[in-house]
Amino acid sequence: MKAIVDLSANIRLEIDDPKEMETLSKAIVLGNPRRTCVCGNTEGFYMTSNKDKEGNIYVNNKCPKCGARSKLGQYKTAGYFWHEFEQYIPKVQTKNEIPLPTEE
Ligand SMILES: [Zn+2]
Repeated sequence: MKAIVDLSANIRLEIDDPKEMETLSKAIVLGNPRRTCVCGNTEGFYMTSNKDKEGNIYVNNKCPKCGARSKLGQYKTAGYFWHEFEQYIPKVQTKNEIPLPTEE
């Protein structure tokens, strides 16, 4: 079974899984990210992705107003879910860390 899902305004996914319930589950979750941020905003969300030092990949739905992110989560067994929006609070820099130069 195939399904076409709009993940965002400019990302369209084609989900193709022989199991109908798998296709439906992915299509429903991926096509329905959280629509209300913790700041109250309900529009203009956009997708971002990042990778940490351990190689874990994150897919986030980001709020344009406050920068909070709703991460795409994966259940250990199978399937996806969207975390609640969370504000990103950077770790306090230690003396050994050098800030990256900022772009002009
Ligand atoms: Zn927000």
